[in-house]
Amino acid sequence: MRRTLLITGASAGIGAETARLAAMRGYDLALNYRQDHESAEAVAKAARAAGATVVLCPGDVSDPVQIEQIFATLDAAFPQLDALVNNAGIVDLHIRMTEVTHARLRRIFDVNVIGAILVASEAVKRMQAGGRGGAVVNLSSGAARLGSANEYVDYAASKAAIDTFTKGFADEMAGERIRINAVRPGFIDTEIHAKGGDPDRAHRIGGSLPLKRAGTVTDVAEAILFLLSDKASYITGTTLDVTGGR
Ligand code: NAP
Repeated sequence: MRRTLLITGASAGIGAETARLAAMRGYDLALNYRQDHESAEAVAKAARAAGATVVLCPGDVSDPVQIEQIFATLDAAFPQLDALVNNAGIVDLHIRMTEVTHARLRRIFDVNVIGAILVASEAVKRMQAGGRGGAVVNLSSGAARLGSANEYVDYAASKAAIDTFTKGFADEMAGERIRINAVRPGFIDTEIHAKGGDPDRAHRIGGSLPLKRAGTVTDVAEAILFLLSDKASYITGTTLDVTGGR
Protein backbone atom coordinates (compact mmCIF):
# COMPACT_ATOMS: atom_id res chain seq x y z
CA MET A 1 0.00 0.00 0.00
CA ARG A 2 1.45 3.39 -0.99
CA ARG A 3 1.29 6.05 1.71
CA THR A 4 0.39 9.66 1.02
CA LEU A 5 2.90 12.37 1.96
CA LEU A 6 2.49 16.15 1.91
CA ILE A 7 5.74 18.11 1.52
CA THR A 8 5.66 21.90 1.88
CA GLY A 9 8.30 23.88 0.01
CA ALA A 10 8.85 21.01 -2.42
CA SER A 11 9.96 23.02 -5.46
CA ALA A 12 13.59 23.39 -4.35
CA GLY A 13 16.35 22.23 -2.05
CA ILE A 14 15.63 19.78 0.75
CA GLY A 15 11.90 19.53 -0.06
CA ALA A 16 12.53 18.66 -3.72
CA GLU A 17 15.08 15.97 -2.83
CA THR A 18 12.76 14.52 -0.19
CA ALA A 19 10.05 14.28 -2.86
CA ARG A 20 12.42 12.51 -5.27
CA LEU A 21 13.48 9.90 -2.70
CA ALA A 22 9.97 9.48 -1.25
CA ALA A 23 8.54 8.65 -4.67
CA MET A 24 11.14 5.88 -5.06
CA ARG A 25 10.29 4.54 -1.57
CA GLY A 26 6.59 4.11 -2.32
CA TYR A 27 4.90 7.36 -1.30
CA ASP A 28 2.26 9.21 -3.29
CA LEU A 29 2.85 12.92 -3.05
CA ALA A 30 1.10 16.24 -2.46
CA LEU A 31 3.71 18.86 -3.30
CA ASN A 32 3.35 22.41 -2.01
CA TYR A 33 5.37 25.39 -3.18
CA ARG A 34 4.79 29.14 -3.17
CA GLN A 35 5.64 30.53 -6.62
CA ASP A 36 8.14 28.46 -8.63
CA HIS A 37 5.63 26.46 -10.67
CA GLU A 38 8.16 25.33 -13.28
CA SER A 39 10.50 23.78 -10.70
CA ALA A 40 7.57 22.17 -8.87
CA GLU A 41 6.40 20.63 -12.18
CA ALA A 42 9.89 19.21 -12.75
CA VAL A 43 9.90 17.63 -9.27
CA ALA A 44 6.41 16.18 -9.92
CA LYS A 45 7.50 14.77 -13.28
CA ALA A 46 10.47 12.96 -11.74
CA ALA A 47 8.27 11.59 -8.93
CA ARG A 48 5.67 10.32 -11.42
CA ALA A 49 8.43 8.62 -13.41
CA ALA A 50 9.33 6.80 -10.18
CA GLY A 51 5.75 5.51 -9.90
CA ALA A 52 4.12 8.06 -7.58
CA THR A 53 0.73 9.67 -7.98
CA VAL A 54 1.42 13.38 -7.53
CA VAL A 55 -0.75 16.44 -7.00
CA LEU A 56 0.63 19.98 -6.90
CA CYS A 57 -0.77 22.10 -4.05
CA PRO A 58 0.50 25.65 -4.60
CA GLY A 59 0.04 28.18 -1.80
CA ASP A 60 1.86 30.46 0.61
CA VAL A 61 1.94 28.83 4.06
CA SER A 62 2.12 32.25 5.72
CA ASP A 63 -1.48 32.93 4.61
CA PRO A 64 -4.20 30.93 6.42
CA VAL A 65 -6.58 31.24 3.46
CA GLN A 66 -3.95 29.73 1.17
CA ILE A 67 -3.35 26.93 3.71
CA GLU A 68 -7.05 26.08 3.35
CA GLN A 69 -6.59 25.97 -0.43
CA ILE A 70 -3.53 23.72 -0.13
CA PHE A 71 -5.54 21.21 1.92
CA ALA A 72 -8.62 21.50 -0.33
CA THR A 73 -6.43 20.48 -3.28
CA LEU A 74 -4.92 17.65 -1.26
CA ASP A 75 -8.33 16.39 -0.04
CA ALA A 76 -9.69 16.34 -3.60
CA ALA A 77 -6.80 14.12 -4.72
CA PHE A 78 -6.25 11.80 -1.76
CA PRO A 79 -8.81 10.33 0.69
CA GLN A 80 -6.12 9.83 3.34
CA LEU A 81 -2.95 11.58 4.56
CA ASP A 82 -0.25 9.48 6.22
CA ALA A 83 2.73 11.80 6.50
CA LEU A 84 3.88 15.43 6.45
CA VAL A 85 7.29 16.97 5.81
CA ASN A 86 6.82 20.48 7.17
CA ASN A 87 9.68 22.00 5.21
CA ALA A 88 8.76 25.43 3.77
CA GLY A 89 11.00 28.01 5.41
CA ILE A 90 12.84 31.25 4.76
CA VAL A 91 15.85 33.20 5.96
CA ASP A 92 16.57 36.90 5.42
CA LEU A 93 19.69 39.01 4.93
CA HIS A 94 22.43 38.94 7.57
CA ILE A 95 21.89 41.65 10.20
CA ARG A 96 22.58 42.33 13.87
CA MET A 97 19.53 42.29 16.13
CA THR A 98 19.87 46.03 16.78
CA GLU A 99 18.79 46.47 13.13
CA VAL A 100 15.76 44.17 13.19
CA THR A 101 12.38 45.46 12.00
CA HIS A 102 8.83 44.43 12.75
CA ALA A 103 8.21 43.69 9.06
CA ARG A 104 11.15 41.29 8.91
CA LEU A 105 10.10 39.47 12.10
CA ARG A 106 6.55 39.14 10.78
CA ARG A 107 7.79 37.63 7.52
CA ILE A 108 10.08 35.09 9.19
CA PHE A 109 7.68 34.06 11.96
CA ASP A 110 4.61 33.97 9.68
CA VAL A 111 6.29 31.40 7.40
CA ASN A 112 8.60 29.46 9.74
CA VAL A 113 6.44 29.30 12.87
CA ILE A 114 2.78 30.21 12.35
CA GLY A 115 2.60 28.63 8.88
CA ALA A 116 4.38 25.49 10.02
CA ILE A 117 2.15 25.09 13.09
CA LEU A 118 -1.07 25.59 11.11
CA VAL A 119 0.05 23.15 8.39
CA ALA A 120 0.98 20.53 11.00
CA SER A 121 -2.36 20.95 12.76
CA GLU A 122 -4.34 20.53 9.52
CA ALA A 123 -2.26 17.52 8.48
CA VAL A 124 -2.63 15.79 11.84
CA LYS A 125 -6.43 16.28 11.81
CA ARG A 126 -6.47 14.24 8.59
CA MET A 127 -4.22 11.55 10.11
CA GLN A 128 -6.61 11.32 13.10
CA ALA A 129 -9.61 10.99 10.78
CA GLY A 130 -7.89 8.25 8.78
CA GLY A 131 -7.45 6.17 11.93
CA ARG A 132 -4.20 4.51 10.86
CA GLY A 133 -1.74 6.84 12.58
CA GLY A 134 0.83 8.96 10.83
CA ALA A 135 4.17 10.72 10.97
CA VAL A 136 5.31 14.34 10.80
CA VAL A 137 8.83 15.67 10.32
CA ASN A 138 9.28 19.39 10.99
CA LEU A 139 12.30 21.26 9.59
CA SER A 140 14.13 22.96 12.42
CA SER A 141 17.76 24.09 12.06
CA GLY A 142 21.11 23.79 13.79
CA ALA A 143 20.61 27.54 14.20
CA ALA A 144 18.08 26.76 16.96
CA ARG A 145 21.00 25.54 19.10
CA LEU A 146 23.72 27.89 17.85
CA GLY A 147 21.78 31.18 17.77
CA SER A 148 23.23 32.45 14.44
CA ALA A 149 24.83 35.58 15.92
CA ASN A 150 25.60 38.30 13.32
CA GLU A 151 23.60 36.40 10.70
CA TYR A 152 19.95 35.89 11.59
CA VAL A 153 19.20 35.43 15.27
CA ASP A 154 15.51 35.95 14.45
CA TYR A 155 15.55 32.97 12.07
CA ALA A 156 17.32 30.89 14.74
CA ALA A 157 14.63 31.84 17.26
CA SER A 158 11.90 30.83 14.80
CA LYS A 159 13.48 27.39 14.50
CA ALA A 160 13.82 27.06 18.29
CA ALA A 161 10.05 27.54 18.39
CA ILE A 162 9.75 24.57 16.03
CA ASP A 163 11.79 22.39 18.43
CA THR A 164 9.42 23.18 21.30
CA PHE A 165 6.35 22.77 19.10
CA THR A 166 7.65 19.37 17.96
CA LYS A 167 8.04 18.08 21.52
CA GLY A 168 4.68 19.37 22.77
CA PHE A 169 2.61 18.30 19.77
CA ALA A 170 4.31 14.89 19.77
CA ASP A 171 3.28 14.35 23.39
CA GLU A 172 -0.32 15.34 22.55
CA MET A 173 -0.53 12.91 19.63
CA ALA A 174 1.49 9.90 20.82
CA GLY A 175 -1.60 8.07 22.08
CA GLU A 176 -3.11 8.23 18.60
CA ARG A 177 -0.08 6.62 16.89
CA ILE A 178 0.91 9.88 15.25
CA ARG A 179 4.66 10.44 15.62
CA ILE A 180 6.06 13.97 15.39
CA ASN A 181 9.78 14.61 15.08
CA ALA A 182 12.10 17.26 13.65
CA VAL A 183 15.44 17.41 11.88
CA ARG A 184 17.96 20.18 12.40
CA PRO A 185 19.97 20.59 9.18
CA GLY A 186 23.26 22.43 9.47
CA PHE A 187 25.05 24.03 6.52
CA ILE A 188 23.34 22.39 3.54
CA ASP A 189 24.12 23.24 -0.07
CA THR A 190 20.84 24.83 -1.31
CA GLU A 191 19.67 28.12 -2.77
CA ILE A 192 18.46 29.33 0.63
CA HIS A 193 21.86 30.87 1.32
CA ALA A 194 21.75 32.97 -1.87
CA LYS A 195 18.26 34.12 -0.83
CA GLY A 196 19.90 35.29 2.43
CA GLY A 197 22.54 37.19 0.42
CA ASP A 198 25.41 34.74 1.12
CA PRO A 199 25.49 32.11 -1.66
CA ASP A 200 28.81 30.53 -0.58
CA ARG A 201 27.82 30.17 3.08
CA ALA A 202 27.44 26.37 3.23
CA HIS A 203 30.76 25.65 1.50
CA ARG A 204 32.66 28.43 3.27
CA ILE A 205 31.66 27.15 6.71
CA GLY A 206 31.50 23.48 5.72
CA GLY A 207 35.29 23.04 5.77
CA SER A 208 35.45 24.07 9.44
CA LEU A 209 32.89 21.49 10.61
CA PRO A 210 33.98 18.24 12.31
CA LEU A 211 32.98 16.30 9.15
CA LYS A 212 34.82 18.91 7.02
CA ARG A 213 32.16 19.54 4.37
CA ALA A 214 28.85 21.19 3.65
CA GLY A 215 25.81 18.91 3.86
CA THR A 216 23.86 17.75 0.82
CA VAL A 217 20.12 17.71 0.33
CA THR A 218 20.37 13.92 0.26
CA ASP A 219 21.97 13.88 3.73
CA VAL A 220 18.89 15.65 5.07
CA ALA A 221 16.26 13.85 2.97
CA GLU A 222 17.57 10.46 4.15
CA ALA A 223 17.19 11.52 7.79
CA ILE A 224 13.67 12.79 7.11
CA LEU A 225 12.62 9.57 5.37
CA PHE A 226 14.04 7.49 8.21
CA LEU A 227 11.98 9.43 10.76
CA LEU A 228 8.84 9.03 8.62
CA SER A 229 9.39 5.31 8.17
CA ASP A 230 8.34 2.36 10.32
CA LYS A 231 12.03 1.89 11.17
CA ALA A 232 11.52 4.89 13.46
CA SER A 233 8.31 3.55 14.99
CA TYR A 234 9.60 4.01 18.58
CA ILE A 235 10.82 7.57 18.00
CA THR A 236 8.64 10.61 18.69
CA GLY A 237 9.13 14.10 20.11
CA THR A 238 12.81 14.17 19.19
CA THR A 239 14.95 16.46 17.05
CA LEU A 240 17.77 14.94 15.00
CA ASP A 241 20.87 17.02 14.17
CA VAL A 242 22.08 16.66 10.56
CA THR A 243 24.86 19.16 11.02
CA GLY A 244 28.20 17.54 10.19
CA GLY A 245 29.01 17.35 13.88
CA ARG A 246 28.59 20.97 15.00
P1 NAP B 1 15.19 26.53 -0.36
O1 NAP B 1 16.15 25.83 -1.25
O2 NAP B 1 15.20 28.03 -0.30
O3 NAP B 1 13.70 26.03 -0.71
C1 NAP B 1 12.64 26.55 0.02
C2 NAP B 1 11.33 25.95 -0.46
O4 NAP B 1 10.29 26.49 0.36
C3 NAP B 1 10.98 26.31 -1.88
O5 NAP B 1 10.28 25.22 -2.46
C4 NAP B 1 10.05 27.50 -1.72
O6 NAP B 1 9.09 27.61 -2.78
C5 NAP B 1 9.32 27.11 -0.46
N1 NAP B 1 8.73 28.24 0.25
C6 NAP B 1 9.34 29.35 0.73
N2 NAP B 1 8.46 30.15 1.32
C7 NAP B 1 7.26 29.52 1.22
C8 NAP B 1 5.95 29.85 1.63
N3 NAP B 1 5.69 30.99 2.29
N4 NAP B 1 4.94 28.97 1.36
C9 NAP B 1 5.20 27.82 0.69
N5 NAP B 1 6.42 27.47 0.26
C10 NAP B 1 7.44 28.31 0.53
O7 NAP B 1 15.38 26.06 1.16
P2 NAP B 1 16.10 24.74 1.79
O8 NAP B 1 17.52 25.09 2.03
O9 NAP B 1 15.74 23.54 1.02
O10 NAP B 1 15.39 24.73 3.23
C11 NAP B 1 14.28 23.91 3.52
C12 NAP B 1 14.02 23.95 5.02
O11 NAP B 1 15.20 23.52 5.71
C13 NAP B 1 13.69 25.36 5.55
O12 NAP B 1 12.70 25.24 6.56
C14 NAP B 1 15.01 25.81 6.14
O13 NAP B 1 14.84 26.76 7.15
C15 NAP B 1 15.56 24.50 6.67
N6 NAP B 1 17.02 24.53 6.83
C16 NAP B 1 17.85 24.64 5.74
C17 NAP B 1 19.22 24.69 5.96
C18 NAP B 1 20.21 24.81 4.84
O14 NAP B 1 21.41 24.98 5.12
N7 NAP B 1 19.80 24.77 3.57
C19 NAP B 1 19.74 24.61 7.26
C20 NAP B 1 18.85 24.49 8.32
C21 NAP B 1 17.50 24.44 8.09
P3 NAP B 1 9.16 28.80 -3.87
O15 NAP B 1 10.55 28.71 -4.48
O16 NAP B 1 8.07 28.50 -4.83
O17 NAP B 1 9.00 30.07 -3.08
